[in-house]
Formats: sequence, C-alpha cells, structure tokens
Amino acid sequence: MNNHDLLQRSLAAVWHPCTQMKQHVGNGGELPMIPIARGQGVWLHDFDGKRYLDGISSWWVNLFGHANPRINAALRAQLEELEHVILAGFTHRPVVELSERLSALTGSALGHCFYASDGASATEIALKMSFHSWRNRGMDRKRDFLCLEGSYHGETIGALAVTDVAIFKDAYAPLIRVAATVPTPDARQALDGETPADVARRAAAALERHLEAHHQSIAAFIVEPLIQCASGMAMYDPEYLRLARALCDRYDVHLICDEIAVGCGRTGTFFAHEQADIKPDFLCVSKGISGGYLPLSIVLTTDAVYQAFYDDATVRGFLHSHSYTGNALACRAALATLDIFEEDKVLDANVVRARKLAAALAPLTGHPRVRHLRQRGMIIAFDVDTEDARFSRRFYRAALEREALTRPIGHTVYLMPPYIVSDNEISHLGRAVAGALEAALHP
Ligand SMILES: *Cc1c(COP(=O)(O)O)cnc(C)c1O
Repeated sequence: MNNHDLLQRSLAAVWHPCTQMKQHVGNGGELPMIPIARGQGVWLHDFDGKRYLDGISSWWVNLFGHANPRINAALRAQLEELEHVILAGFTHRPVVELSERLSALTGSALGHCFYASDGASATEIALKMSFHSWRNRGMDRKRDFLCLEGSYHGETIGALAVTDVAIFKDAYAPLIRVAATVPTPDARQALDGETPADVARRAAAALERHLEAHHQSIAAFIVEPLIQCASGMAMYDPEYLRLARALCDRYDVHLICDEIAVGCGRTGTFFAHEQADIKPDFLCVSKGISGGYLPLSIVLTTDAVYQAFYDDATVRGFLHSHSYTGNALACRAALATLDIFEEDKVLDANVVRARKLAAALAPLTGHPRVRHLRQRGMIIAFDVDTEDARFSRRFYRAALEREALTRPIGHTVYLMPPYIVSDNEISHLGRAVAGALEAALHP
C-alpha cells in the first residue's frame, strides 16, 4: 500500500464529506487528498513516511490522541462482553453508567439521557422532544424554533432549519422549515467602547423583543454556548446565556444548549454553559464524548420534560429511535474518556496548555493582516484580512506542507488540538500557522 494507490481508489469510490470532489482530482487538483495509514497521539501518519499534527482533533472529536492506550484497552474489554444490543426493552452497563455520570456532571439537573449516533440527530431529538413535550401539555401552538445568526446545529434537513450558514443551507432552502434568527452576541461586533458583555446585553435585548412578540408559537431557543464554532469561532460573553436563560423562563420557551462542539472541556469547564452558571432544558453532547473513537450523541433533559411524556398512552411517549441507539462500544469509549478526565485532572492541566497555545500564537498579535486573535480554553482563533476567496485552501495546503492539519473556516484560522498536545507540539503548531499564513498571503 502506498499513498498514490489508495488516493486513486478513494477518489474513485468514496464520496468525501463537505467536499467539492473536483478540487481533489488530477495533478492539477487544488487540494491534496491524504491517505492516513495510522494515528499515534496527536500525529497522523501517511503511507509514505509523512506525518501531520492533528491541530483540529480530526473535526473536533479527538480529545486524548489517536490510538489512546486507555481507550483502546476499554474497548478491547467491552468487545469481549457486548458489542451492541437493542436499547428498546433492553439495557446494559455502559449505557447506564454513562447516563449516571453525565447527569452527575450537570449537577443532576438533567437526569434523563436519550441516545443517538451523531450530532445532527441530537439536535433533531432536542427539537422534537421540545415540541412534543409542549404538545403533550396541551400547548401545540408552540411549534417554532429560534436560533442565533451564524448558528450551526448540523446538516440533516431538520437540523438545517436551525442552522444559519449559507454554504450548507442555501441549496436546500426549499426543503427546510426555516427557523427565525436573532442577532448573535459575537464579541467581534463590539462598537466603539463596548465590552463583550455590552454586546451580549444588546443581543439579549433583541432576543427579548423577539420572544415578547412570538413566544406563544416558540417551543425552543437553541444556542451553541460561548462559541459558535462552525460559522468561524465566534466567541461571546457568558452574560448572554444568563440573560437568555432568564428570558426563556419568563416566556415559557425551552433553552437548548448544543454543546456538541464546546462540551467535554473545550472551553475550560466540562460544559460551556457552566461558565454562565445556568442550566438548559436540553443539552446536546457528541463529538468529543467518545474520545473521537465512535459515533455517539446524547440529549440530556430535565425531569419536567421527561414527565410530560410519562403516561398510559403509548403515543404520548417519545417514539424516536436509531438502530444504534446507546451502542455499548461507543458508551464504553465515553466512559473511558470520562475516566481520563478524572484521573488526569484534565481541566486543570488544560489551563496551562491553553496558556501555551496563546503563547504560540502571540507573535501574530501585531501582524498587519491578523484581526481578533481570540481564545477560550482549548480553542484559539484569528481572522485574516484578505480578499482572496482561496485563502482557506491555500492556508490548508501550506500548513500540511509544514506537517500540520488545520482547516480554516473562510478567513478564520483556528487551532483546536487534542488535550494531550505537548509543549513541543504546540510550538510546532505555532510555527506551522505562522509559516502557512505567510505562504497563503503571498502565493
Ligand atoms: C458538529 C456539530 C453538530 C453536528 O454534529 P454531526 O455529528 O456532525 O452531525 C451540531 N452542532 C454543533 C455545534 C456542531 O459543532
């Protein structure tokens, strides 16, 4: 096996995600397609002896490195016991333990866990549960959803309804029952003299006006707490979540926190909403929860929502399912991931790691083309002042040439590495980003 052969076969047989395939084809292809033979820690190795530092945790999922010995061992043990069993009418130890531990991480405020396999399904489950719980309570006028400008909650048709990213949404607009949007609290929108908290208050005032006018038809407001990742790492002040929580309470609207990207320690706390000292009505978790090993998502909710379905009538139950709901291997990977958080005191260690990430990109602070260098926990990002529509592709390629996997979103460059990245590896990322920036700006 070598790079070239596998590459040709992949281009012929695999339709890659989020990809215009033509950009990869032929020697004139703008983007390389990289066959990966194995992963070890933060490194991805191809078949020809090249390696890449996984600076984006393989699309934000990998927390403790590739081929992590502890997660591998847990999965091997689980394979010998139970790989999977139907979760309707049956249960098993990993799913029970994981539910208990996740609920405990919410201070038991969200004591009921519903399972699926990917993030978009978690979004859809939260939306359906919210609507259905109001309906079961005789309030079926509440059938609309509200989201933030620039929101991203997944790409299935239901999830696209609350996703506000044109490139993912526009082609499918005729298929979608589009949700209303309210202004984002993105701190980059600060006017002269405004603090991030001021921007949050301004955005919350707009939310208040919207809810005041439309609350009778709104089931839920869905947000990505603290960082709108997919639309370009838009960071905002926790004050917005505090105000949104109070407004949702006042107007009888559910608050859904989509922590698919920002959960599992990314922002410094285990869940991002903790930094606002609030509890949502629904909490969506996926991506990092299985350590980046297996598809798994969970929607946690409150006893109040659960009780709205608890009834003699079958049809008042939540009759949603996926074939792999509560997969035992995925749950076991998640338990091993939570073990590592506890045993290694990961949140504490990440405080230091986050400082080193900041130091690695600090030299860019005064760069004439760098704007809004920003960070929260283990996510650091900046915007690049360029008119070049190909900037992100050029940067991506230039970073690969410097042994780093990055994936700029438009003109936003970010790093989101696994939580095992070492000091040397952080320096490597810093050098790769600085070098790729110059290469991309001066092709
Ligand atoms: C990635 C992501 C999703 C979708 O998850 P998939 O597993 O890709 O379907 C939803 N919401 C947020 C905030 C995400 O980052």
